[in-house]
Amino acid sequence: MLTILHHAAQLVGIAAAGECSVLANGSLLIRNGIIEWAGPAAEMPPITEDERDITWIDAQGKVVLPGFIDSHTHLLFAGSRVDEFEQRLRGMSYAEIMARGGGILRTVERVRRASKEELKALARPRLQRMLQFGVTTIEVKSGYGLTPADEIKCLEAIAELNAEGPWELVPTFLGAHAVPPEYRSNREGYIRSLCETMLPEIARRGLADFCDVFCEKDVFSIDESRRILKRARDLGLRLKLHADELSPLGGAELAAEMEATSADHLLCISDQGIDALAASGTVATLLPGTAFFLGRAYAPARRLIERGVTVALASDCNPGTCMTENLPLIGSMACMQMGMSPGEVVTALTRHAAAALARSDRLGSLAPGKQGDGIVCNVPDYREIFYHFGINHVECILKRGRVVHTS
Ligand SMILES: [Zn+2]
Repeated sequence: MLTILHHAAQLVGIAAAGECSVLANGSLLIRNGIIEWAGPAAEMPPITEDERDITWIDAQGKVVLPGFIDSHTHLLFAGSRVDEFEQRLRGMSYAEIMARGGGILRTVERVRRASKEELKALARPRLQRMLQFGVTTIEVKSGYGLTPADEIKCLEAIAELNAEGPWELVPTFLGAHAVPPEYRSNREGYIRSLCETMLPEIARRGLADFCDVFCEKDVFSIDESRRILKRARDLGLRLKLHADELSPLGGAELAAEMEATSADHLLCISDQGIDALAASGTVATLLPGTAFFLGRAYAPARRLIERGVTVALASDCNPGTCMTENLPLIGSMACMQMGMSPGEVVTALTRHAAAALARSDRLGSLAPGKQGDGIVCNVPDYREIFYHFGINHVECILKRGRVVHTS
C-alpha cells in the first residue's frame, strides 16, 4: 500500500532533530504505513511498480505536517461541570466550589456510576473531534475512578477505544489524582491501595504505559508522590508528574530525580526546577489552555526553552479546568501568551510531544522510517494555522499511511 502526498506548498517537520524544518514544494511517500521518502517534489523517486493500491493526494497550495500528538488529556469522564464554570466566573473560589460538592470528586462520583460502555460512548465524540483537529495520537489518563475496580474499568475503556482506532491512544494510570472521600481520614490506606493493589494489577495486565501523580499542596506531597512513582517504576511503568501547577512545591525537581518522561503544567516552576529539567531528559509539557481557562499566569515557556529544556504542548482536556479538544488553538495560545514561535509550537505538538510519550522512535516527524501519521492543512504557510486561530484548517488526516478523515 502506497500513499503519496504530492507538491505540498510546505512540507513541515521532516527533520527528526533540531529546529522545525520547512521544505517548499515537497512530496512524501508512505509505504505500508511507514514513511519511505520525504523531500523536494522534483526529486521524488520514480514510482515504477504497477501498484493498484496507490493513494495520490494533491497537496498543492497546502501544508503537510506530522499528525499532532496530545500528550496530556483526561478525556475519559462522565458529567458536565458547566455550573462550576459559571460559579467560577462569578468569583467563587475553588475551595467554595469544592465545599458545594464541585471539583474532581464530583466527576469521580459520575465516573463510578457509569459503565465502561457509557464511558466509551461519551469519549468517542471527543476523540473524533480531536482527530478532526489533526490529532492522531492521544494520551488518556484514568484518575476519576479512584477504586481498583473503577480505575481498571477506565483503563480497559481506553484500551478498547484504542483498538477501535483510527486514533492511537496512550494509557496513563492516574490513581493518585485525588484522595477519594472514603479515605479522607486514612490517606495512608489509599496510598497503600495504590501501591499494593492497583499498580501491581495494572502493571501485570499491561493496562498503562505511564503512572502519573497529582503532586500538589493538599493533594499528594513530594514524599508521597516519590513513593508512588518509585513503586510504579519498580513495576516497569514509565513516569509522568502533574508538577508545580498551583505552587512551587518542587515537582519538577522530583520528576527529574525520578527520571520521569515528562513533568506537566509547571506554571509555578522555580529556577532550580528549570535547572533540574534542563539537566535531565525529562520533557516539560505545558498546558496553556488550563491557564487560559482559569485566568492564571502562563508557564515560563521562553525561560524553559532558553535553558535547553525540551518543551511539549498538550490540551489537558478535562471537564473541570480545560474543556476543549482543539489542540491547534492551544498552539495559538502558546504563540500569543507564552511567546513561542510557530515553529517551536509545531515541534512542541509533534516531535517533543512524541518524546513526552516515549514514542520518539516512531512518532513526531515526517522522517523516513517513522510511522505514516500526517495531516494536510488548507493553508499555504504553516504559521497560518496558529495566526488564523480558533478554526479548523485540517483537511485530510493520515494514520499509518491511511486516509482516516477528510473534510
Ligand atoms: Zn492533567
